[in-house]
Amino acid sequence: MKALVLDVKRNEWETTEGMVHTSVAEPELDEGKNPEDASRVLIRPRFTGFCGSDKSIWYRRAFKEMIFDSLESNGHLHRVCGHELFGEVVAVGSYAAKFYGYKPGDLVSTESHIFCGRCHQCKIGDAHVCANHLIIGISTDGCFAELIKLPAKELWRTDPDRIRPEVAAIQDPLGNAVHACSRVDLRGRTVAIFGCGTIGLFSILVARTMGATTIIAIDPNAKNLQLAERLGVDLPLKVARSTGTKSVAPDPEVVAKIKQTCFGEGVDVALEMSGSNQALNTAILATRAGGDVILFGLSAGDFIITDFQQIIMHGKTLHSVVGRKVFQTWFIMSNLLQSKGHDFQDKIYDVILNKGEGTLFPFNKFKMETFEQAFQNHPKIILKY
Ligand SMILES: [Zn+2]
Ligand SMILES: [Zn+2]
Repeated sequence: MKALVLDVKRNEWETTEGMVHTSVAEPELDEGKNPEDASRVLIRPRFTGFCGSDKSIWYRRAFKEMIFDSLESNGHLHRVCGHELFGEVVAVGSYAAKFYGYKPGDLVSTESHIFCGRCHQCKIGDAHVCANHLIIGISTDGCFAELIKLPAKELWRTDPDRIRPEVAAIQDPLGNAVHACSRVDLRGRTVAIFGCGTIGLFSILVARTMGATTIIAIDPNAKNLQLAERLGVDLPLKVARSTGTKSVAPDPEVVAKIKQTCFGEGVDVALEMSGSNQALNTAILATRAGGDVILFGLSAGDFIITDFQQIIMHGKTLHSVVGRKVFQTWFIMSNLLQSKGHDFQDKIYDVILNKGEGTLFPFNKFKMETFEQAFQNHPKIILKY
């Protein structure tokens, strides 16, 4: 079958770029050889999403150890990439059929973090921080392929009559925004979103749909802010891009503008989705006393908090968000996507996916250059099979 793979050796990681569209062996269900296949299904992708993490594999910025360690322990030479999926079940293991009721023809998406179900966190209902988790397309083969084998327990039934298939394929990253916006009550609250990349943009829509009032979006990129405006933010704020190690101090102009907009005190809730140290400090300072700061943006290395007393003396709470709660986040997301009377789904398709214009690519005609240009110019790219 055709697949989009990372096909380099560990020592070539830094000197190469991109992914290769090539032929690889099809995954198969063989319960005789692999008893665990009883609980697995084979899925034929219809649409898949290209994630920020795929971009960092493309440019060799992250996941090196996870990819190569898992390849070595499985004795494989390449990793099939991709984890954002909407597809059709084509074969079902005996246990997956009996216990989960899956059958060929079922349409599903998937949670991308495969949880073990046995560890301490899994047992207490925190499977999103499973001690033994595998990530699809990183530590196990992914969905940029004509077939993918997945555990039935990870799948999420999705009705394309209620959720359009292009949107169904990106429920996993949308779930990051839903998880972030579910950490505290947003009803009637003022919200500032630092960083309008894909998850920041999703968060504008999720926060609005969940009842946030004034939404302020902060980003150094004018194009990202235009998208934020089209999604309905009340106040877009352009900031200078912070550079170097010295630029960790909060941006006083942004803090002043946010306070001005929110009774002189600051926002109720700040979402830090940029991974910038300066944005983190600006977010903390721009949040009112007693407010909440939700952390999702991620960068390697040390961060400096400029005025630590701010947090404790003013009773501000920091929350961190990773992945999605399985499956609480998925239920909330389904409700948001399927309920009528708001344009949540339409705005995802019309604005973030640009109605498919320049964002939708046929998988079997994959070309590295055009694809790379597309994911540099749009917040989300979809592959159609
Ligand atoms: Zn993703
Ligand atoms: Zn676990």
